[in-house]
Amino acid sequence: MPDDDTVRADDLIQPFQIDPFALRGRLARLGPTVDRILSQHDYPEPVAAILGEAIVLAVVLAGALKYDGVFTLQTKSDGPVRLLVADVSTDGAVRGYAQYDPDRLDPQWDGASPSVPALIGSGYIAFTVDQGEDTDRYQGIVELVGATLAECAQHYFRQSEQIQAGIKLAVARAGHGGGWRAGGLMLQRVPPEGGYTVIADDVEDGWRRAMVLMSSATPGELVDPDLPPRQLLYRLFHDEGVRVYHTHPIEARCRCSRQRIANILRAFPVDEIEDMRKDKVTTVTCEFCNTRYDFAADELAELIPS
Ligand SMILES: [Zn+2]
Repeated sequence: MPDDDTVRADDLIQPFQIDPFALRGRLARLGPTVDRILSQHDYPEPVAAILGEAIVLAVVLAGALKYDGVFTLQTKSDGPVRLLVADVSTDGAVRGYAQYDPDRLDPQWDGASPSVPALIGSGYIAFTVDQGEDTDRYQGIVELVGATLAECAQHYFRQSEQIQAGIKLAVARAGHGGGWRAGGLMLQRVPPEGGYTVIADDVEDGWRRAMVLMSSATPGELVDPDLPPRQLLYRLFHDEGVRVYHTHPIEARCRCSRQRIANILRAFPVDEIEDMRKDKVTTVTCEFCNTRYDFAADELAELIPS
């Protein structure tokens, strides 16, 4: 066991397995990472809370995939929060942002898991895996069905992946000093190759029992900075024979750069770039991290294809 596993209690994914029913799970714990992302923007509390859930959901889902690249979760909808984006790269860099309409938003948050119908409204949730140029992008998209983001993700799995999965998310200002924290727990049923070594009824019972135990985790436990991830898993599943694996670190890191922003501008129609050049300096702000990139009129001219 690397030291990392014993020292690190935050900003990580803790994979685990429950034998003998071949249930795989992941516990995501985000402290400073989610606090940093949410604090980079001056979001009203309900917006910060639902984006925090989207971020930790992206982290637990990305942990289920074998991929090399970027996993993106995105919602698009007609509610006060019209867009949520959270993405996670294979090396554990996570970022996210929200677009919302302040006039339609009740700025009060009661601390409960944010309501999808009230905040997001009707629309879609999409999951994309982008493994870089010259590879096929995988995208799964379903209608938002559920009271919470966790329910919407479960609906997605039922609809499109034919995978049985349980997901639980929590977000709160629970850090020492009032920082945002988020926790996510996902359990999925992965029939082993060659079938189970136990009888089918036991497998069903094992799954149902594990789901009940998982749902017994309180939101407070999921975000508690003083409850180490492994301790929480043992508390929940000790009778079931839970096995934990190496953790993977997660950190808040944006992938924007001047070069990337220039590439985006290069794809703009020429007349739009000409329009921007009427100003001495055009500032492009990264929506994820709020970094500002200034382009002078002559620099913009270089972006127009000759
Ligand atoms: Zn950025």
